Amino acid sequence: MRLSIRSCIPVTLLVALALVCPAAFSWSNHSFVAYRAFEKMPEVTNAPPVSAESLEAFLKAEEKAIQALLISQEVWAQNNLEKYPSRPAALAFQVDPDRSDEARRLAFLMALRVAPTSKFALYIQPDPQQTQPSGNSGNSGNALTHSAVNTLPQDANSTYRYQTLRPGEMVSALAVLASASDEPDYGLDINLWDDSPSEWGKRYGFGALPFGNPSLPYATQAPFHMGFYHESRVLYLAAPFIKRTFPLLRINQFSTLSALAFRTGHTYWGWRFAGLALHYLQDLTQPYHASLAPGHSTTGLLWVNLLAMAGASGKKNDTVVLLSNRHLALEKYQIELLQRAARNKQDTSLEAALRNMGKDGSYPAWSDRYVRDVVAAQAAAYGSQVVSTLESSMPAAFISDPSFDFGVKESEIDLTSELAKRDPEDRNRLEAMIAELLGNFGAHSRTAVRGILKESHGTTP
Ligand SMILES: [Zn+2]
Repeated sequence: MRLSIRSCIPVTLLVALALVCPAAFSWSNHSFVAYRAFEKMPEVTNAPPVSAESLEAFLKAEEKAIQALLISQEVWAQNNLEKYPSRPAALAFQVDPDRSDEARRLAFLMALRVAPTSKFALYIQPDPQQTQPSGNSGNSGNALTHSAVNTLPQDANSTYRYQTLRPGEMVSALAVLASASDEPDYGLDINLWDDSPSEWGKRYGFGALPFGNPSLPYATQAPFHMGFYHESRVLYLAAPFIKRTFPLLRINQFSTLSALAFRTGHTYWGWRFAGLALHYLQDLTQPYHASLAPGHSTTGLLWVNLLAMAGASGKKNDTVVLLSNRHLALEKYQIELLQRAARNKQDTSLEAALRNMGKDGSYPAWSDRYVRDVVAAQAAAYGSQVVSTLESSMPAAFISDPSFDFGVKESEIDLTSELAKRDPEDRNRLEAMIAELLGNFGAHSRTAVRGILKESHGTTP
């Protein structure tokens, strides 16, 4: 369900308003995109099938190593993340072989400071281009209910399809990796703040939600799925809270857990944690997740904000609505294209761009700085190009009319039909830009997996 962007504008600074009703899902259904990004990568496709293992079993077997890793993660975060709120000492994960599986799992999730209600079910999302289940036993065709996997309400137009895995069932590395890359959108990062309506938020020490409305669940996940690392100094001075975003924390947590799992022979969790880490990197390839207001200059934003402070808030509200509409329209058209291609078993420029490894070598190797300095910097630099392409390619009603709320109308909109009515040149221009962004998504995702595999002793599991 989408909320009206106007129903959630209680904050005074314009820069905050851009995020008040964030479409926190970025690239819709990451698994669709990730299947294509990895389907030709030898490290993934040549990896032997893995045996599904419950989270409880992994935690019990590697409790000591996990305790040590989580201590080093905390040290890393304190030394490397700006505005990082230290983890309260009481949440540290400590070895206790006598506790129940349930108590150990709860301690682990709270030490990571993710929602302790998270399911971490054994599941896959099947490849939309495959009709066969991805498990080997023939049992993985069993559908799993939405609520068994995802703690958020099911959207009316949901593309999610979950298939259950039994412990010990063999499954391809690709299916585990691609499925997990969508998982952080299933409620892991909901209500983690002091002012969140949750019991755990008050214990996590993240402080108050930096921007947005704390009573809207989706808004509370945004600071973990967006990162504004490349704004102007003036904007940081005007709105210092925009530095309080934490996707880099999640990437470090899950990528190092992945390396630990590979190292200790838990290859299922190696791929699964790698997929979880990828999600946050992939979100930051979306220009609207890596930049506060794509296509807007700092001066323009501050001027609009000044007008609002003087009582003329019309322009400010218009800016917020247009940012939201463009963000949503870009993502909606992308998922429509991928879904249509999957349905028709077509291979379009988008799928080709996703799997194209031609540019992988042009980027630096994986490092702690990669997501910030390469991925987010590149996405943030797309701002003006994305806006001008959207403006020249999509119907003005969706892109340039502040009286139209795309979020509210989204389920009634079929962008493929709308675009079909326009000059094919418009469509081609827009699809070329989306293909370019997805090419970046694919290349950076593969860089991360290469880096994680190297960290787990350079071996392909
Ligand atoms: Zn996300």
